[in-house]
Amino acid sequence: MIRNPSWLPLAALLVALPAAADIEQTKGSFKDKFRQLDEVLPTANDYRTAGGEPGHEYWQQKVDYEIDVRLLEGQRRIEASERIRYTNESPDTLRFLWLQLDQNRFRDDSLAERSGAFADASRRGPRVKDAEGSNPPQLSLEELRRHQFMADNELGYTLSSVRDGRGELSYTVVGTNLRVDLRRPLDPGDTTELEIDFAFNIVDENAISARSGYEHFPDDEREGGNDIFLLAQWFPRLHAYTDYEGWTNKEFLGRGEFTLEFGDYTVDITVPDDHIVAATGELQNPSAVLTRTQRDRLASARTADAPVFIVTAEEALENEREGTSGTRTWRFEADNVRDFAWASSRKFIWDAQGYQQGGSVQPEVMAMSFYPKEGEPLWSTYSTAAVIHTLKVYSRFSFDYPYPTAQSVNGPVGGMEYPMITFNGPRTDLQDDGDRTYSLAEKRYLVGVIIHEIGHTYFPMIVNSDERQWTWMDEGLNSFLDAMAGWEWDPEIPWNNQPRDVVDYMKSERQVPIMTQSDSVLQIGPNAYAKPTAALMILRETILGRELFDFAFREYSRRWMFKRPAPADFFRTMEEATGVDLDWFFRGWFYTTDHVDISIDRIWKLRLDTKDPDIDFERRRQEDADKPPSVIVERNRAERRTWVEENPGLRDFYDENDRFTVTNKERNDYQTFLSELEDWEREVLERAVTEDKHYYVLEFSNLGGLVMPILLELTYADGETERLDIPAEIWRRNAMAVKKLIITDRELTQVVIDPNWETADTDVENNHYPRRIVPSRIEAYKVPEGEALENRDIIQDSKTELEDPEDSEEDP
Ligand SMILES: [Zn+2]
Repeated sequence: MIRNPSWLPLAALLVALPAAADIEQTKGSFKDKFRQLDEVLPTANDYRTAGGEPGHEYWQQKVDYEIDVRLLEGQRRIEASERIRYTNESPDTLRFLWLQLDQNRFRDDSLAERSGAFADASRRGPRVKDAEGSNPPQLSLEELRRHQFMADNELGYTLSSVRDGRGELSYTVVGTNLRVDLRRPLDPGDTTELEIDFAFNIVDENAISARSGYEHFPDDEREGGNDIFLLAQWFPRLHAYTDYEGWTNKEFLGRGEFTLEFGDYTVDITVPDDHIVAATGELQNPSAVLTRTQRDRLASARTADAPVFIVTAEEALENEREGTSGTRTWRFEADNVRDFAWASSRKFIWDAQGYQQGGSVQPEVMAMSFYPKEGEPLWSTYSTAAVIHTLKVYSRFSFDYPYPTAQSVNGPVGGMEYPMITFNGPRTDLQDDGDRTYSLAEKRYLVGVIIHEIGHTYFPMIVNSDERQWTWMDEGLNSFLDAMAGWEWDPEIPWNNQPRDVVDYMKSERQVPIMTQSDSVLQIGPNAYAKPTAALMILRETILGRELFDFAFREYSRRWMFKRPAPADFFRTMEEATGVDLDWFFRGWFYTTDHVDISIDRIWKLRLDTKDPDIDFERRRQEDADKPPSVIVERNRAERRTWVEENPGLRDFYDENDRFTVTNKERNDYQTFLSELEDWEREVLERAVTEDKHYYVLEFSNLGGLVMPILLELTYADGETERLDIPAEIWRRNAMAVKKLIITDRELTQVVIDPNWETADTDVENNHYPRRIVPSRIEAYKVPEGEALENRDIIQDSKTELEDPEDSEEDP
């Protein structure tokens, strides 16, 4: 959110914004794609350096939480009280604190609900579908279910008390935000404590798609079925207070995620005593909540070389069938995390394996998975393994994983991340014979989503970017790394995450630049995930090379671990650490909607004139002879003789000597030309004539607008190929059309741009010179019969017997 700095004198404001808008090309159509970004990036200061590093006065707030929460299973309700310890590390005095009340997003009167346009009533923002068109609007059953759930349930927070040590505080709820007015101003370096009692009804995740909630399993044997509870965005959390925006209290609309402060948590979670709880942090009271057997299994899992069941499938099934009236309190502690989430169910199977990471930070990490039987056998085979694989790959790209646990929990949320814990959705299909099976797509989904969500425990859970503003800073960076980890897992799985997979989006009209605030992004998947992924892959594999890129990316990760980077910090670090000017790259990929489409339009094959008339005139005679004959002359010749042939007396000198005949006059001119050359000029000409190389001029046009290196595969007459990579800087004086001279001994027969499809070039056919016949597929199809009501044979159809719905259920 851009804030109006009303405290800034107008003069200072004008100086602070020399602004790109003031610098404008007003003649011709030249566009400087290499214009430096400094005028667009924020001015460096003591908090953030011009090199993209935390400055010497960098600060961030610290917020610690003690929470006591009770899950009322039957009511699907949370009741809790929290004690917040807020330390003001900023140089500013604060008179109020802003907290996030994310559950209020589900109130009827929330900004998100009231501003939801039809066809984008879906929870995380606008759908791709265009509003226009002549077809009547459609209403999905999912959308109807959502409206019905919202109508039937009281949602949002009940705040019963907001107080400090001396009593109730005055507060104001503004949508999903809560302003608490402090009893007295909080000076720099000071700490204050708040206590809040709150409660809310948990949403049905499948109806609402809320990133958390419950899922009901009505078919379980237990009377009334069972639930899986995934709790996130569940307690009033402090908004971040930052050096670049002040309070980051932009309303939660469902899409732009969360920006939060680091702190230490102690959370007591009271649940039915047959539930298994997974949570951010480490369990503090295993002897109070786990059996002796479970504790022994957990201990042996630490050094196991495969996942060990803490709760087996049989034990989970046993839990599922029974019920309980007792409760148990699980205590978790987590240090230096930016959030806290948890999951609870009696359905959970639980496996664990210690990952011996080594190093001094966190030598051993417990990788754990929690899932119901509905996820088997996918989950016990792949989940914990995928967690460990992710830690290995991500740490190689960034830093050692600094937390004691890394967990993957199955539930209704398709995929969502929190510190040390992730929610992941994939399930298997129960077949008639009792087996549970899955498709390759479901396996890809499971491994892929776990890599992705565990990856988020690095970005943004540790490299704490502002998700509310910039989805790409966490999703883009993380999708790039999850692609790397996916290919290292198994390249035979069709991951569909290469630069070539983003071309349809890149050339589409319906898009905004990557540098767009999260809630305003069109097509969030391609915009904030796939396009930045493609950009970073190209940066690594094509522009910088792995060594430079990896060094810079690790440097960015190291600089901003447990800190709060902004986009400029990423751009600046990548430039500073590689020593390569990347302004054109970030400008093109992140600040525009240009796409890559480089075309090779023509290749000239040039032969150097020798200036010697005895050679050059003969070559011109040959060129003339090589032209195709005139059809008129040919046909005339077949029909009749020419006038000159009929009348030989008309023949003269020119019938014996053509226009390419050399005379001594030209020979003398040639000698004069040579004698008038400087010595060096003559030597250059003579050498060039002797060597008689091929001169090729290649003409390229930039149809997509995005400047990129031109990667060439040259094929010669001898069948050999050669790679020639022209840096993007070739476009710096003309971004639309450039030529390149190639001087070679060999004869060139074919040129292909980007032969490996590594630059997301949207039209690969104009990459071929000469053009090739386009290979594709065509299907024969049958014209469908009309579906109009009058096309039915009702005379016949009305004789149909009514089927028993019970029968048809058996026989799908
Ligand atoms: Zn993500």
